[in-house]
Amino acid sequence: MVILLKSLFVLAGIVILILLAFRMKSDKAVMAALPDNYKEILESYVQFYRQLDEMRKREFEKRVEQFLLDVKITGVNAVVEEIDLLLIASGAIIPVFSFPDWRYINLHEVLLYPGTFNRDYDQVGESRSISGMVGTGPMQHKMILTKWQVRQGFINNNDANNTAIHEFAHLVDKMDGTFDGVPEIILERKYVKEWRQLMEKTIHHMKTHGSDINMYGATNPVEFFAVISEYFFEQPALLKTHHPDLYSMLTRIYKIEL
Ligand SMILES: [Zn+2]
Repeated sequence: MVILLKSLFVLAGIVILILLAFRMKSDKAVMAALPDNYKEILESYVQFYRQLDEMRKREFEKRVEQFLLDVKITGVNAVVEEIDLLLIASGAIIPVFSFPDWRYINLHEVLLYPGTFNRDYDQVGESRSISGMVGTGPMQHKMILTKWQVRQGFINNNDANNTAIHEFAHLVDKMDGTFDGVPEIILERKYVKEWRQLMEKTIHHMKTHGSDINMYGATNPVEFFAVISEYFFEQPALLKTHHPDLYSMLTRIYKIEL
């Protein structure tokens, strides 16, 4: 009987050790996506992260890590450094931070170019003005970002520009199947009409009177939504003062007060 009990204890011990080993292995696999100095980089460059309390900072880190496990980031004539990984993932998480279960199921890979490119994806030569794009056709499920512009978007906090946030706002918009500046996947149906009208009114005002909003936003509602999302996350106080109605609709869309 004593021998039997002893064997049972030994067996239970082995089972516990095996379970622990498995747990450690899976923890390690999750942690592997983040570089060692991730807190330092986020704290130094990501204003949105800096303003979170400790609990929400941990949540942000986990979401950044999950993004990096889900989406491959590939350099095209560019070396992908740790800071690039963290800034791209931050640009992805900031717009959807209030949606805890959000996953970018429409994105598999981000291609990182060194600088601007043209419509044929040329990285050298004339007329290179594109700093980011969400892929369509053969580029479906891919996004192109440029290293220089992604970094500038986070380093310079005195403007309302952030290329990464711009492109991820496009992806959020696209997620409902229509690319129209109305992110119905996150915007309650009752506000859709009001949002469309507000976009049209503002675009018209921009074209006729000019604006402090980046004029690229007056191109069409798709670009307006991405541009105004940059403004909202980069300069929320300014947006609230200059365009209270836009600010208030964006708090409804992104379910966050900034
Ligand atoms: Zn755009």
